[in-house]
Amino acid sequence: MPWKFSRRAQNLKSSTIREILKVTEQADVISFAGGLPAPDTFPLSEIKDAANALLENQDIYGALQYGPSEGYTPLRQWIANYLSERDHVSVSSDEILIVTGSQQALDLIGKALIDTNDTVLVETPTYLGALQSFNQYNPEYVAIASDNEGLIPETIDNELASSAKFLYSIPNFQNPTGRRLPLHRRQALAAKAKQNNLLLIEDDPYGDLDYQGQRLPALYTLAPENTVYLGSFSKILAPGLRLGYLVANKQFISKLLPLKQASDLHTPSLTQYIAYQVLSKNNFLNHHIPKIRQLYNARCQYMLQSLAQYMPKEVSWNQPEGGMFIWVELPAYINATELLKEAIAQKIVFAPGETFYVHGEKNNCLRLAFVTVSEEKIDTGIKKMADIIKHHIQQQLL
Ligand code: PMP
Repeated sequence: MPWKFSRRAQNLKSSTIREILKVTEQADVISFAGGLPAPDTFPLSEIKDAANALLENQDIYGALQYGPSEGYTPLRQWIANYLSERDHVSVSSDEILIVTGSQQALDLIGKALIDTNDTVLVETPTYLGALQSFNQYNPEYVAIASDNEGLIPETIDNELASSAKFLYSIPNFQNPTGRRLPLHRRQALAAKAKQNNLLLIEDDPYGDLDYQGQRLPALYTLAPENTVYLGSFSKILAPGLRLGYLVANKQFISKLLPLKQASDLHTPSLTQYIAYQVLSKNNFLNHHIPKIRQLYNARCQYMLQSLAQYMPKEVSWNQPEGGMFIWVELPAYINATELLKEAIAQKIVFAPGETFYVHGEKNNCLRLAFVTVSEEKIDTGIKKMADIIKHHIQQQLL
């Protein structure tokens, strides 16, 4: 039977990254492509204890029952306390909406805010999953100029800022570049938002992963009236729980609620109860996050060292201060998407940069994810990539 798909569905393309991930399922492939957290950081014994305790307790009925669309109240309260303490602000639990991964928040934001041809401002490059969410509602993207420190607020002219529906930003250890927006730019962006009544969507799944533990002020603390903040437990607990949250004023949340109800009624109660048990015991994150930072920092330093050892001088990359990604820039004549085909033949995968640009502006960049790869594989993989790149450079010189 020929399916009568909607125009929206007909126009959707599957993400290149997801296609690449299929290749990485083969055991002998060295993958720098996925954005997966390291499984060795998943708090297995704590999750097991919390699940066991729950199963033996009356609470299990609540955990298996339908629950409120806003989320499990104790978890919302826990998040409000956590943010108030971490960010030196006053967040209340009714300003928290629990979502099924922060990816759901991106989808709800697209649904709630974007009409066809609305202007949406994004970083250059930006997170592909956000574009997938927003694309469903047909916005016109304007890519804000960026450099090695992230987006440049001075390049956003006031007319554009005041006419845009929102600006989507990942200020901490951005996906895909690993960049962190410096304080002076955060302040300039907050001022620009206030001056032009511009809504900022601050997506912050990597904010707790700063290797030195020195957090910069979040945009929602600098421009509270103008910012919707998105947090996630995917990188500090486990992504399979599918737990994230959105922080906004009550009016905004009340607009999102019917949209969330239409998509899943509420985020699974079971994972919310388990996460709450884990998080609320003995200041769990205070011990857990430093371990993740240490592991990720070690893997990052190892990859930086391998890049320095093997890559030719024509290739450059950044030195991330946190997170899970390094952004590599190749000579302009090397197309990273083409390079990937050669790398796959040698059982190496990475994420080509082109897919992260709204207008495909640049194709000589790539993203390397390092946290799930052993030191030995980092060494082998980077050496092989460097050999392929050197071959291209030599051919260009001929
Ligand atoms: N935003 C960004 C910038 C991400 O990198 C990711 C995950 N890769 C998400 C949102 C989605 O995360 P979650 O697992 O919370 O849905």
